[in-house]
Amino acid sequence: MLRLGVDLGGTKIEIIALAPDGRELLRRRVPTPKDDYDAVLAAVTGLVHDAENELGAVGTVGIGTPGSISRATGLLRGSNSVCLNSKPIQPDLEARVGREVRITNDANCFALSEATDGAGVGAEIVFGVILGTGVGGGIVVRGHVLTGPNAIAGEWGHNPLPWPRDDERPGPRCFAGHSGCIETFLSGPGIERDHLRVTFDAATAHEIAARAAIGDPACDATLKRYEERLARALGHVINIIDPDVIVLGGGMSNVERLYVNVPKLWGPWVFSDRVDTRLAKHKFGDSSGVRGAAWLGAQG
Ligand SMILES: [Zn+2]
Repeated sequence: MLRLGVDLGGTKIEIIALAPDGRELLRRRVPTPKDDYDAVLAAVTGLVHDAENELGAVGTVGIGTPGSISRATGLLRGSNSVCLNSKPIQPDLEARVGREVRITNDANCFALSEATDGAGVGAEIVFGVILGTGVGGGIVVRGHVLTGPNAIAGEWGHNPLPWPRDDERPGPRCFAGHSGCIETFLSGPGIERDHLRVTFDAATAHEIAARAAIGDPACDATLKRYEERLARALGHVINIIDPDVIVLGGGMSNVERLYVNVPKLWGPWVFSDRVDTRLAKHKFGDSSGVRGAAWLGAQG
C-alpha cells in the first residue's frame, strides 16, 4: 500500500509516493491550472492515477493545501488559489479518485511530517512552526494532527506578540487588519521591516543573517531582537500546549543560531522552574508539506 501525498499550492501541484517505512518512491510536479477548479481537480486526479500506474500499486491519499475546510460547511476557505475557495474540494476529489481523501493545511502537514519521521520523531507533543513569508503552525499529539471545530489549531501567527515592549506597540499592521501580530515580527518580511525601521537598511532576511554571521553589528542586533521575540512567542505556546519538541520550518528556520540562542531566552516566559522543551530544525525542509500529506492520508 502506497502513501500518496499531494501538495496543492498556488503555483504547482506536487505528488510524492512513500513506502510504509517512509522511503520516497516517486515524486512529480505540475503547474497549478489557473482559475479553473475542474482543471485543478483533474490535475490532482491525474497525478494520483499516474503514480499508481507507474508503481503498480494503490495508495491512500492525503492533500496539503493552504486554507482550511470549514467543519460547518465542508467548503475550503482561505486558500491563496482563490478558485478553490467555497468549493467542496474533499468530496469532489473523493469522487474522482474513488476513495477517501484527507485534507489539511500546509503547516499541519509540516508538523505531521516532522512528528512522524523527522525532527520530532518519538515525541508525544510536537509544535511545528513555519517562519516564512507568513507564520503558521500545527500541533501533532501522539502522531495525530489536532484540528478542532474551527480547523485552526496551532494557528498562532495572528495572535499578538506576547509581552510587547513599549516600542513594539501597537506594532505593524497585518493583512488581516490587526496590529502587532506575531507574523508581522517573525515572518521573513517581518524581520526585514524591523531591520529597515532601525537601520534604514533595506536588506533581505537572508542578507541580514549572512551579515550577522560575519560580525555585522547592526544585523546581529536585528537577529538578537528577532530571537528575543521568538523566545517570547514560543514561551507563550509552551505555557499552553507544553510540547516536547518545537520544530522550525520556513526560510527563517535556516538561521542556525536560533536553535542555540532562543532556548536560552525563553525561560523567563515559561511558567515553570525549568524548560525541557527542545527546539529543533526541520529534517525534511521543503519536502515536509508533501510528506506530511502522505502520512495524513494513511491515518485512520
Ligand atoms: Zn494578523
